[in-house]
Amino acid sequence: MHIPFLHNFNLEEYFRSNASDWGPRPVRVIWESSDYVTLLVRGPTSGKEFHVGRGDEIFYQVRGELNFHYVTAEGQRKLIQVKQGESFLLPAGMPHSPRRPNDSSWTFVVERRPRPDDEDYWIWFCERCNNKLYESSRRIGAAPSNQPNTIVRDAASALRADEKLRTCTRCGDVLALD
Ligand SMILES: [Zn+2]
Repeated sequence: MHIPFLHNFNLEEYFRSNASDWGPRPVRVIWESSDYVTLLVRGPTSGKEFHVGRGDEIFYQVRGELNFHYVTAEGQRKLIQVKQGESFLLPAGMPHSPRRPNDSSWTFVVERRPRPDDEDYWIWFCERCNNKLYESSRRIGAAPSNQPNTIVRDAASALRADEKLRTCTRCGDVLALD
């Protein structure tokens, strides 16, 4: 559902009335015809991929907890444990992997609308030593939609099919994918 301009609604009520038929996809686009793209994401989301976005992103944890993994410009991996009611601003270009432990975790996310030459990346790191294992990119050109993200799906399939791709060349750890 794309909500029109100037239509106020209650987020809590939106969750309550949509929770039972949320469907298999964790993301719903709330506002799209705008300078921004606004998403609601419901857990569980345990994908190991890190997204590298084109612009700053605002996160607001409406319900439950969010384990927000990210990698600094110096290549250091960090974790923010975001609690219900907390919000933060993520700078552009920082690899991040928001992980939600269960279906009680709801995040409100605001992103800059993509520009035609924007390119997004998804990176898989070794979960033990943070060595880069795999990278996939695409020119976005259009806002995220309610359709499945085929880049992440295809890359995850490739990783699942080939253990070599999932094996860290530095420490030998094999990435576990759901
Ligand atoms: Zn490793």
